[in-house]
Amino acid sequence: MTCKGICTRYKAQKPVGTGRYASGQKRCQICEIFIKWEGLWCPCCGYRLRTKPRNLKYKAKLRARVEADSQLEAVAVKVAEVEEIEVAAVKKSTKRTKTAKASVKKIAIEPVAIKA
Ligand SMILES: [Zn+2]
Ligand SMILES: [Zn+2]
Repeated sequence: MTCKGICTRYKAQKPVGTGRYASGQKRCQICEIFIKWEGLWCPCCGYRLRTKPRNLKYKAKLRARVEADSQLEAVAVKVAEVEEIEVAAVKKSTKRTKTAKASVKKIAIEPVAIKA
């Protein structure tokens, strides 16, 4: 079971606005390619083709997104906390305000980094 290069003849283009599996493409794990093929078996290597995304992978993707969201929330809370500290610092002295402002700037950048 190895790739003989035949699969490139059936190579499927990435569909626009829909998923590869949703548009009827099948994935060969051996050839590492998406193909347009009616059969269940790869015409190239003979390995069983995948017609659905891997459940585990999808779940992991979903979980990663949830984690990213909660991270953003955590950062937002941090910024709010620092703002509170800043307000308190303004009341105490101007020197401490500068330090508080610097840390606000640093934390505020973080959500952008996570999104990217
Ligand atoms: Zn192949
Ligand atoms: Zn194959």
